[in-house]
Amino acid sequence: MKAYETVIGLEVHVELATKTKIFCGCTTEFGGAPNTHCCPVCTGMPGTLPVLNKKVVEFAVAAGLATNCTITQNCKFDRKNYFYPDLPKAYQVSQLYLPICRDGGIEIDVNGVKKVIGIHEIHMEEDAGKLVHDEWDDCTLVDYNRCGVPLIEIVSDPDMRSAEEVIAYLEKLKLILQYLGVSDCKMQEGSLRADVNLSVREMGASEFGTRTEMKNLNSFKAIARAIEGERKRQIEVIEYGKKIVQETRRWDDNKDTSFAMRSKEDAQDYRYFPEPDLVPIEISDAWLEEVRQRQPELRDEKMARYEKEYDIPEYDAALITSSKNVADLFEATVAICKKPKEVSNWLMVETMRLLKEHEMEPENIAFSPENLAKLIALIEAGSINRTVAKEVFEVVFTDNIDPESYVKEKGLLMVNDEGALRKTIEEIVAANPQSVEDYHNGKTKAMGFLVGQTMKAMKGKADPGMINQIVMELLQ
Ligand SMILES: [Zn+2]
Repeated sequence: MKAYETVIGLEVHVELATKTKIFCGCTTEFGGAPNTHCCPVCTGMPGTLPVLNKKVVEFAVAAGLATNCTITQNCKFDRKNYFYPDLPKAYQVSQLYLPICRDGGIEIDVNGVKKVIGIHEIHMEEDAGKLVHDEWDDCTLVDYNRCGVPLIEIVSDPDMRSAEEVIAYLEKLKLILQYLGVSDCKMQEGSLRADVNLSVREMGASEFGTRTEMKNLNSFKAIARAIEGERKRQIEVIEYGKKIVQETRRWDDNKDTSFAMRSKEDAQDYRYFPEPDLVPIEISDAWLEEVRQRQPELRDEKMARYEKEYDIPEYDAALITSSKNVADLFEATVAICKKPKEVSNWLMVETMRLLKEHEMEPENIAFSPENLAKLIALIEAGSINRTVAKEVFEVVFTDNIDPESYVKEKGLLMVNDEGALRKTIEEIVAANPQSVEDYHNGKTKAMGFLVGQTMKAMKGKADPGMINQIVMELLQ
């Protein structure tokens, strides 16, 4: 078999985090009873007119600036005509001729190898409704709540060569958009959806092969599997001496294979024309500068600042900033307790462990910085030891309890009464003469046994340092 190279480009649809839709005042909130978040404008009733949501333009510009694009200061909308029941107007307002952002790129890092993935363009458009097939056997229902939710479509250049590069690109893009506050990027709610354009060619060839498009892949894992599956399929077709057909395919993640849906449309199939109901958009220099000034600190800057300002290792800074939610939690907790390395340890070790155990995403962490800070204060004050702290943290993580009142209620506070502790140890030493003898015969392990017995008698609520000290004294 010949050697092949995989060529991948992505079209990423991102739902913007505006409160209202792109051309009307309806809410963009996810879910809701079917057809309760819509009005005559977003359901395309005849005679209605769209009014552009200014926030959509600002979010698109922010995304463009953060991905090193040139902003099209005179841009406009176009009509993409297609007839499908999820879009009652029979056209989608989108941008073809003058997209708002062009010619950008972001740097990815795969196993230490850095590479820039080009961004061909970012355009604004409206989302369509949702077809509901599942509930009845013989009919399909339509929910228009999502109709008119603002989207940006980020179209990459065909610069990626492997699933690893695709995942690295998507992760970087997701972080940028989350840090900007432009989208929550929740894949399970469809706020970030990726279509994968893939072709293969013989290694060293200069022309691209014929590509296929796989739509609506809703997890990074599914994307990686779909790329691997489609790459193999195309190579097999070529090796059999057949031709790849340009088409849209649906990846079935359960069956681990893709199926042809329809032949892939070209732009001309949509009969695009300038949208007559909306005036062209003029982004003045002043407006552009205003958006630029408002750009928040992005991940790379944040990482550098953490290392410098909080004096934490690069490894910690990278892990904490890999989710905006975790980074926010870190900063808020440090602001209260002023112990950056301690906070970082709780987030990196126990929080990450519990996220995995509960199969949760970092975006869904629900405990407050106040409660983590209180837990750290309890350890610092010697009120609880680390073993107890880990148990308490599990409850903070799941139920966001107040650790102060929790340890009091459950009687977990450490016994710091030296007299009581000494009495217990004296009893244990008296009850274990063999261990005392062993210790004096050079078996130092015997001391560990006595410490362990004491901790058991104290139900784990004693300071191990203090126990060690007293046992040592009594053994001398
Ligand atoms: Zn509406």
